[in-house]
Amino acid sequence: MQTLRASKCGLSTAQLPSYILDVIDALTKAGYEAYIVGGGVRDLILGLNPKDFDAVTNATPAQVKEVFGRRCRIIGRRFELAHVYAGRELVEVATFRAPPKKAVTSASGMILRDNNWGTIEQDFVRRDFSINAMYYQPRKGIVLDFCHAIDDIKNKTLRLLGDPTLRFEEDPVRMLRTLRFAAKLNFSIAPEILEIFTPELTQLLRDISPHRLYDESQKLFTMGHLNRVLPMLIDFGIWHQLFADISPDISTFIERAAINTDQRIQMGKTINPAFFYAVLLWKPFLERCNFYLSKGVVPAEARAQAGLDVLKRQATRTIIPRFAETFIREVWEMQTRLLNPKPQQIQALSTHARFRAGFDFLLLREKSGDDTTQGMGVWWDAYQQMSTDEKERAISQYNRQRAKSRRKATTDDVVETKSVAAITEIEPLVNEPEPRSRRERKSRAKSERPVQPTSSNGSEIGYDHPILKRKRVKRDLSQVIFGPTQ
Ligand code: ATP
Ligand code: MG
Repeated sequence: MQTLRASKCGLSTAQLPSYILDVIDALTKAGYEAYIVGGGVRDLILGLNPKDFDAVTNATPAQVKEVFGRRCRIIGRRFELAHVYAGRELVEVATFRAPPKKAVTSASGMILRDNNWGTIEQDFVRRDFSINAMYYQPRKGIVLDFCHAIDDIKNKTLRLLGDPTLRFEEDPVRMLRTLRFAAKLNFSIAPEILEIFTPELTQLLRDISPHRLYDESQKLFTMGHLNRVLPMLIDFGIWHQLFADISPDISTFIERAAINTDQRIQMGKTINPAFFYAVLLWKPFLERCNFYLSKGVVPAEARAQAGLDVLKRQATRTIIPRFAETFIREVWEMQTRLLNPKPQQIQALSTHARFRAGFDFLLLREKSGDDTTQGMGVWWDAYQQMSTDEKERAISQYNRQRAKSRRKATTDDVVETKSVAAITEIEPLVNEPEPRSRRERKSRAKSERPVQPTSSNGSEIGYDHPILKRKRVKRDLSQVIFGPTQ
């Protein structure tokens, strides 16, 4: 172990936000050891802006709770941690861990519980990468480096602590972390990892809960280097483990969306990580829509059911939370509305809560060479810049063109051709999502809702299938959400 001077590593307390110093100070004052560890130290040494600061201590979670009282909550079962609220920030305070006892590892070597407290030396070997295992005591101005991690930082190398195969078996999510850090830091992956990191090994990810994988996918989407990590996910065989039905090729649309996401993050803009899921799943969604259309299902039902199917399949890998699923389906539904809006609804659509996301999606499609948008991305872009008078003129011109092309048109694939009623409200973009729990399903079944049209093998619908008999439901317009453009 070498003790480095913090100042020699380019670290000073002036770089640290007061909340992390408060946490370290409170623990030290209570007689415990406390360090900043992980990404915070690594990123500061690299001159990057840390996403957050994690602390580690010899106090057990219960003792941390004693120190911080109501500001502290103990979370996690597999990996127990204390969450300390410092002002508006949250600091994860972990306790030094010793190797787990044999009884809590699975047959494949995966650690099922990791709550065996230990010393700092034992804690260090339990961490994933050398560069994440530097312990910074800001008040003493020292960094404890047990494995020459500082050299790996200088050489821009990502090195797992211990035997790479064993470390991946213990926790397969480390495979995802490898690619995330390699992409985020632009580090090379150590040869001993590359040697064993095969697509077969990624099968281990099947044992990880789809909830945890969703969280990890979000970290990949929001780290600011999504475009760099996507090809790596394919090369290392992780793509198949994360995305159920998305073919592993990066279309122009996906690439543009990834670049766009990275740019927004670099500019400090917010992003909705579900947007990228909407992009990834767009092609499977269209394919599923066409499947239903080919069976004679009316377009609106085909889209609704295709959305449910695609998200259900994806949930076998990553469970997308309900609110994010609704967002994704609304963005897809917006594509139809924006492509062929009823002239009376144009203004209302442009102020709809989901307009912004739907429009961004449409424009991205168009800029990626998708001509099925029929130039409507550009049309909406221009529309938003117009004065009220110009908007009126644009709408009547659009109306004339629409009438002309409608006369010519026979049928349209995905877009529904309904008789134009003088409605200016917008129907809800998506209906209530399918219930997940048995209790939800039961109570839904009691209500008048028709049977969901899923087939037993997922590929065929007979013509007695309920979806074909389904009556058009009169939608409840009181559910329409109008809101400011996001
Ligand atoms: P980020 O910049 O994404 O926050 P980080 O390195 O801080 O990166 P966290 O997930 O916040 O990552 O974890 C904090 C630290 O906990 C890591 O630096 C690492 O030392 C340890 N750690 C986290 N996850 C694992 C894991 N799966 N296996 C071993 N150690 C881990
Ligand atoms: Mg962190």
